[in-house]
Parts: sequence; C-alpha cells; structure tokens
Amino acid sequence: MNLEQIKYRTCPNDDEDGILLVDLDEDMPATDEDGDLQYYCPGCHSTFSSDEDDD
Ligand SMILES: [Zn+2]
Repeated sequence: MNLEQIKYRTCPNDDEDGILLVDLDEDMPATDEDGDLQYYCPGCHSTFSSDEDDD
C-alpha cells in the first residue's frame, strides 16, 4: 500500500485537504467498521471516511 497516494483526500464538507488517519502503533491507516479509510479535516475539525466523497 502506497501511503503517499492516499495521504490526502478532499473533505466533502468544505473542500479542504483531509489528512489520512494512521494507527501509529501499527503504522497502518485507520479504518472504520466498513474498512473505509478515515481522514481528519483541519478546516472543519471533523473526520470523514473515504466513501463519503464520490469522485
Ligand atoms: Zn472539512
């Protein structure tokens, strides 16, 4: 898995760059119960998953 390619994703709320959440203990991306990647948006201070933004 190439973390650089999935490191950022556009926030569906405000089009800011969301940052990939990574489990530092395992050095792997954090996922929700559906296995979708989780991102944190510094613009609206919220998290969103990769399947909320259809592009
Ligand atoms: Zn946002």
